[in-house]
Amino acid sequence: MTIQKFDPYINVDPGTLNPYEHGECYVTDDGAETDLDLGHYERFLNIPTSQANNVTTGRIYQTVINKERDGDYLGKTVQVVPHITDEIKRRMMLLGEKGFDIVITELGGTVGDIESLPFVEAVRQIQWELPEEDCVVLHLTLIPYLKAAKELKTKPTQHSVKMLSQEGVHPNVIVCRTEQPLSTELRRKIALFCNVKPEAVIEAMDARTIYEVPIKMLEEKLDLIVLKKLHITNFTDPELNLWKAFLEKLSQPKHEVNIGLIGKYVELQDAYKSILEAFIHAGAVNQCKVNIIDVHSEHLLPENVAEQLKDLDGLLVAPGFGSRGVEGKIEAVRHAREHHLPFFGICLGMQMAVIEFARNVLGWKDAHSTEMNPETGHPVIDLMEAQKQITEKGGTMRLGAYDCNIESDTLAYRIYGQSKISERHRHRWEFNNQYAAEFVKGGLTTSGRNQGNDLVEIVEIINHPFFIGVQYHPELKSTVENPHPIFVSFVEAAIRYQQANHASKFQQTEKASV
Ligand code: GLN
Repeated sequence: MTIQKFDPYINVDPGTLNPYEHGECYVTDDGAETDLDLGHYERFLNIPTSQANNVTTGRIYQTVINKERDGDYLGKTVQVVPHITDEIKRRMMLLGEKGFDIVITELGGTVGDIESLPFVEAVRQIQWELPEEDCVVLHLTLIPYLKAAKELKTKPTQHSVKMLSQEGVHPNVIVCRTEQPLSTELRRKIALFCNVKPEAVIEAMDARTIYEVPIKMLEEKLDLIVLKKLHITNFTDPELNLWKAFLEKLSQPKHEVNIGLIGKYVELQDAYKSILEAFIHAGAVNQCKVNIIDVHSEHLLPENVAEQLKDLDGLLVAPGFGSRGVEGKIEAVRHAREHHLPFFGICLGMQMAVIEFARNVLGWKDAHSTEMNPETGHPVIDLMEAQKQITEKGGTMRLGAYDCNIESDTLAYRIYGQSKISERHRHRWEFNNQYAAEFVKGGLTTSGRNQGNDLVEIVEIINHPFFIGVQYHPELKSTVENPHPIFVSFVEAAIRYQQANHASKFQQTEKASV
């Protein structure tokens, strides 16, 4: 089975949206820039998604308008119903043609929104067209809790189900987001007003972690209700041993480390969603609670960097675009390099590590990326020739999965345990090969390359316990069942750093007391 998301906004994809507005942009193997919910789908299902898993109103209209221009509807008036709704339905059915038995289609937005109307209408038509047992509609609602009255309110649920019915869709299951348990009486009330069986009212209570939610849904028997509606009888109990083992490790940490996340949007949880989730997976493997300490790079200066980073056991410099805050990021990398603090640079973070090394080790004071300084005398990060010609912004970066060959006897090789990997990209600028030999001579190895276009994908510093920068986004491939090896090793390195540091602090205090 697979999951897809329909977003009612007019952007063709979320690639051009500001992370402040929409959170991180998730990238699939086939290079689609998608809603961050696809990250959750992959982390939970452990199977890759694709462009077909995320569709926006913009993409639907673009397809229909292109067809109209091509003359596909010649003589016809092109309308929301049936042309837009037909295109929505085609995309709902598409994944079924790719071999999936069950497709979960999530509609973003809220019932009653003007923009989601064509999607709800498409659901109405599909429910009408498909055999009864091939379609089930789940409606997710909020049951607010009024603290002062100590009371759960069902009115908003009744209201949204009523609105949905007016649009012609009758949900089979009501999933209720709530802070407090739903009583039997409340469930009966919701069932009665919403015209579903009481067992089809599912309590979705706040959980300690989202990874507990599947277990809670199982307890609510949501799976059985759906299977029954779909007339699927030949099922076995779900195999959840790995999942439960992960939850157990997650809830019983033996270590605790502080990792600094240096970025531009650090105050916004969703902007680095996949990175935060990858740390949850890697933390569980190491039975380690990973505290992410947000560090705003704009506030980092040579004179305060040591103070600001003093409690960290590891430093991650995040992906990003534009020049805001880059000098602070470079200062942070310098601190990590000089103090042997475990360092992990992702995409822009890797580029910052290359610039820092060029400036402070190789002595090229003006070294920079041409993204921030097109006039630099040492463009150690530069655009590929192919990128220089492109003027359009949407979907024109180096996107999606690329192979990478890892050299043996490197940190990268020890981490991955293999020489051929594939990782996802989302960037325009690249390591400038012209300088590769001088970097290697200075002590910064290029340990991973894409063979086809000879691009540097991984850099590392040899005389450092853990210093790695990657041009790709490893966080996008970390799942509960396959935690990403770089994150796992990075957390391990942070634990080692902390133990060494605490030991030395301990020795110092001992010495002081003698
Ligand atoms: N801005 C950089 C580039 O386009 C890095 C992008 C990123 O971190 N995703 O190459």
